[in-house]
Amino acid sequence: MAELSPVLKQATPVLASRGDGVHVYDEDDRQYLDFTAGIGVTSTGHCHPRVVEAAQKQVGTLIHGQYTTIMHRPLLDLTQRLGEVLPTGLDRLFYVNSGSEAVEASVRLARQATGRQNVIAFHGGFHGRTMGAGALTTSGTKIRAGIGPMMPGTVFAPFPEAYRQGWSEEQAVRFALRELDHVLATVSAPQDTAALLVEPVLGEGGYIPAPAAFLQGLRERADKLGAVLILDEVQTGVGRTGTFWGHEPSGIHPDVVITAKGLASGFPISGIAAGEELMGKAWPGSQGGTYGGNAVAAAAALATLDVVRDENLVANAAEQGDRLMEGLRKVAAEHPVIGDVRGRGLMIGNEFTTADGEPDGASAARAHAAAAERGLLLLTCGPHGNVVRMIPPLIVTAEQVDNAVGLWSESVAAAA
Ligand code: PMP
Repeated sequence: MAELSPVLKQATPVLASRGDGVHVYDEDDRQYLDFTAGIGVTSTGHCHPRVVEAAQKQVGTLIHGQYTTIMHRPLLDLTQRLGEVLPTGLDRLFYVNSGSEAVEASVRLARQATGRQNVIAFHGGFHGRTMGAGALTTSGTKIRAGIGPMMPGTVFAPFPEAYRQGWSEEQAVRFALRELDHVLATVSAPQDTAALLVEPVLGEGGYIPAPAAFLQGLRERADKLGAVLILDEVQTGVGRTGTFWGHEPSGIHPDVVITAKGLASGFPISGIAAGEELMGKAWPGSQGGTYGGNAVAAAAALATLDVVRDENLVANAAEQGDRLMEGLRKVAAEHPVIGDVRGRGLMIGNEFTTADGEPDGASAARAHAAAAERGLLLLTCGPHGNVVRMIPPLIVTAEQVDNAVGLWSESVAAAA
């Protein structure tokens, strides 16, 4: 009898029979509160009626044209709609299927446009599992162990980690930018530096928001170097952090924005956006793919963006995110094993630490499992698996947030 490969690690014990809004149901019809959202994908919840309707209609109209062979209306319409929400001037887009492919596409673009090779990424960053995106990933060695050598031309600098180092945010930013300048003086010369690649909130690496001053520092350095500043908004985009894009609070203007995950409520589509001049430097035909910008996925993305707008989901993410943060901080205040609760919008991490401040992955794993037993599905992250993250659909209500906080409080107590 064939089985799934053990290479796949399942984070929860659930075998789902269906999903509805913020809930999934197992084969015995037990209901779970899904605060994983398919790793931040089901932004409008499971099977939002408008997304379902748009996808079903498209399935019966045209499933696949292949955008370099036959163009279709859903992709053109999606491009218009994304143009309304993207930073000004980032109005040239193209599409692939996953976050990893989009990251690789942005690297290809930066290398072609600058004629340089090096991409500087930041410690703890997650950018994907393919050889190029994986080479830029340092959220955990599991992505590269036994696999390397990976793509050359990757250089790393520290991400500002205030809590881990016991620093203020200002100290963490000063350290990170100083180290970046050191890397630029010692490892990656300006004439070799094609791009800086960063997540607005470090995701798989531990749910650490990038301070505004850090992103502003990256913008200044990219300008000075003539390098491309790429914002990996795969997990943070489409309202997740309480603003449409995760980098918005910093006020910076990126050169490239990468979007995926929450864009189509579960259909595989990702994209990169850049300005006309930069995108014009890509060699025609050097990017693309058979399934990129699939018509059904594009229709679902369009419906997702409509739902996000019509149901004010960005504002809801900010509001419910504040409520969730407040509730989780109260739980942490009662349980010293949770050393830090942080995040932005509906992207919140609870960091478990030992009494002497070291990462405590075992306690995090117990709390995570105890939550699943109580019907609350969560994920862990961080290099030591010691951060339990909460990333519910953007449609989550105050009542569901309170319910989750109650279950979480019980779970942490049970895991102590
Ligand atoms: N970038 C970021 C910030 C991500 O969080 C992820 C996925 N967790 C990726 C890239 C890779 O996306 P995918 O799994 O769709 O390739």
